[in-house]
Formats: sequence, C-alpha cells, structure tokens
Amino acid sequence: MTTGNNDRLDLAAGLGAPLRRLLAQTASIAHTHGMALWLVGGVVRDLLLGRTIERDLDLVVEGNAPALAHILAAELGGQVNVAHAAFGTATVALPNPADMYTADPLLVDLATARVESYPYPAALPVVQPATILQDLGRRDFSINALAVAVRGIGMELAPAPLFDPFHGQHDLALRQLRVLHDQSFDDDPTRMLRGVRLAARLNLRLESHTQTLLQAALTRNRLEATTPDRIRTELCLALSEPQPATVLQLADAWGITPHIFASLRWSAALAQRCDRVLLTISRQPSAMVTTEQVYAGVLTYDLTASERVELAERYRLPKETARLLHEIGVVRTLRDTLLAPGLRPSEIDRQLQRFSAAALLVAACAEPPPLPDVLHHYLAELRPVTPLLDGHALQQHGVTPGPHLGQLLRDLRAARLDGLVVTRADEEAWVEASLR
Ligand code: ATP
Repeated sequence: MTTGNNDRLDLAAGLGAPLRRLLAQTASIAHTHGMALWLVGGVVRDLLLGRTIERDLDLVVEGNAPALAHILAAELGGQVNVAHAAFGTATVALPNPADMYTADPLLVDLATARVESYPYPAALPVVQPATILQDLGRRDFSINALAVAVRGIGMELAPAPLFDPFHGQHDLALRQLRVLHDQSFDDDPTRMLRGVRLAARLNLRLESHTQTLLQAALTRNRLEATTPDRIRTELCLALSEPQPATVLQLADAWGITPHIFASLRWSAALAQRCDRVLLTISRQPSAMVTTEQVYAGVLTYDLTASERVELAERYRLPKETARLLHEIGVVRTLRDTLLAPGLRPSEIDRQLQRFSAAALLVAACAEPPPLPDVLHHYLAELRPVTPLLDGHALQQHGVTPGPHLGQLLRDLRAARLDGLVVTRADEEAWVEASLR
C-alpha cells in the first residue's frame, strides 16, 4: 500500500468558483485552528469521474469537527444544524455563495477523522478519533476511500494531490468495486447493498476477490444478521437511484435478492415495466406521485398478496408504501371488470376511486394494453370531475343536510360522468327529478 500519489485533482473543473471560495475560506479557518481539512468519499470519486458537484459537501477534519462547525458558523455567518460530540460529526449551514439572496444555505457535513471497531460482526461500530489514513481505511470500497486535502490561499483553493492509499483511482479506471479488507462485508453487510447501488449507478463490476468475499458473506447469511431497518434504508435508497431496475438486476445477478426476500426476482418483463415508469408518471403530472412509489410497486408487482404483506412487515415499510402494496393486489384483480364492454364511466369511477394515483400508475406500467389507457383516462378525465352544484346549492333545493345529501351529490357526480347532465340547468332538473 502506498500512502498517496502525485496525481492532482482538478477541483476547479468540478466545483464552481463560489463553492471553491467557500471551501478555501473553510480550509483557512480550519488551518488557523490547527485542524486539517479533507474532501472525501463520493465527492472525490465523482470529481474523478468528471462529474460536476452540485450537492452538499462531506468534509473530514483531523481535529474536532463539532468545534470547527461552531467556529465556521460564527465566522462565515452560518448556523450549526446538528452537532454530535459523541460521534464527532456536525452539519453546518453556510450562506450559499452561488446565490446569496435566494438560495437555500449550503450544507456542509463535517466529521472528525475516526476509526471504527466492531465488537461483533454486524454490530454498530465503536468510534475513536484517528488520522485521515485510518479514516479512509474504514470505508467500504477503494473508490470511496479517496481524499483531497483542502487548503486555502486567500480566497482560492491551493492545488492538492489526491490522497489515494488504497488505489481507488486505479479501480475507478478499471471500473471495479473492491473492498479494503477481507472482513469488510462481515463488519457491515449493508456494504453489499451499497455496492449494488454504486455498481448500477456507475456501471461497475465486482473485482474478483471482492466477489468471492461477497459470495462467502452471503453463504454465511450475513445479510440476515443485519437489522431490517438498515436493510429498509438501503432499499429506499435503491428506489431513488436513477435506474432502480438495474439495481435489482445486479442484486439478482450477485445472488443478493434471495437473502432480502426469496421471491423478489429480476426479469426481462420487469425491466420493460420499469422502462415505462417515467413516461407513465409524466402523463399524469397532477397526480403528484413519486418515482420511488411507482418503482416500489412495479418491482413487487409479481409477488403474491401475502408476500407483499410479509415484505412490508419484515422491513417495517412506511405506512404509505405498505398501503400501496396492498392496493396493488386489489387493482390487479380488476382487469376483466374494467375491460368489460360498455362499462359506464361512473362504473369505472366506482371501481377505481378508492385507490391512490400511485397504485393506478403502477398498474398502468405493469398491465398490457388496453388497460393502461383506461387507467390514464380515469385519472385525467374522470377522477377530477365534480358537479356544478354543491351541498349549499342542494340545500337551497330543499335537501336537508345529512347522509342523504351526500348520496345525492355522489349520484349527481355519477350522472355527470355518464354525460346525463352537462349544464347547471341540467343538474338542477336532475336534482328536482330525483327529489320527486
Ligand atoms: P452518494 O451520496 O453519491 O450515494 P457517497 O459515497 O457520497 O455516495 P454516502 O452514503 O454519502 O455515499 O457516504 C459517504 C462516504 O462514507 C462514502 O463515500 C464512503 O466512503 C463512506 N461510507 C458510507 N457508508 C459506509 C459503510 N457502510 N461502510 C463504510 N464506509 C461507508
């Protein structure tokens, strides 16, 4: 292992001038207080990949991160959002130099350089302050164990070499994921899931020894030893990746999915459904559903109803997601009913009104034609329909408030859906006739 090389990382290319200025100021303040500052992990990896950094920054401090956060907030006019003295971490919100007047503040995560030890496999780590080298050594993959020293000269960043003690740059060039030591997956089995996510996003493969270690960890059921909550967090992150289907495909190829949920499988049909997700959502902009919701439904569409319940219970999925999975089981059974010839719009509405837009869009992705068109038509044209007369207007026609009034309004809406009433006068005549 070497402790560095001479490659310089061109921070100027990936970080805009205002961000560089803020980093330079932060580094100068840290230096004044005898602390060294490092840009680490995913940001450095993404800079090496030529990506532009638009996100909040992760910095490691050889010193005291919570103390530095308070100093920065005082000197740069920001605010410390959270500071955990025990974990040596803090988040500071600083004025965003890219847009001082309107933008949200820039969040900078500061962490004291630390080592972690695991009292037993898959336990939560015990944390101690350390050097940057030791800090990088506790990380998941070599491509995330990269750092660049941040030093300021006036308002600009001083050029700094890449600190790459685990040859992450080499692995990045080979587009491979490599763990730093043989115990890595045992220490923290969620690294397998982080690996799948990264590999899917950046088109990486497993380095061969890492693959052997991963298979061995799976065979020893290390994932099953992890708390469901940690797995759920990873599953949710997977759903917010740009290509959740690729994450599932890779998880399947690496033999991970059976250790999460036995019947969760990737298939070509599933890939086709996932390909339809973005277009399907874009057809219903007012439905306000998230891509994560729809992917969650599409990826679990082929599970049985009881499997979906078991999945939701095992991983204590959020109530909204558990409800969505339940709804999907019911929507699936309505295909023949919805495609029956001559079905009136009010009938379609009666069948579908109890479902969330997300559940209907999941079915629109997963079911073959012509059902998707029926579902889109329902969401866009039928669901928003309301009668011109409201409860007050009905009372003026002599209807007393109560359940009967509610039923009359629903019947009036059904009449409007079926085209039996069009104008306000039609509706008034319809109400008069109903009351007679
Ligand atoms: P992105 O945010 O783009 O998904 P990232 O690499 O920044 O990627 P984070 O989850 O923010 O991901 O983690 C920041 C860094 O912390 C990682 O780059 C990695 O070095 C380290 N890290 C995160 N989780 C683990 C873990 N479970 N084990 C070891 N190191 C980890």
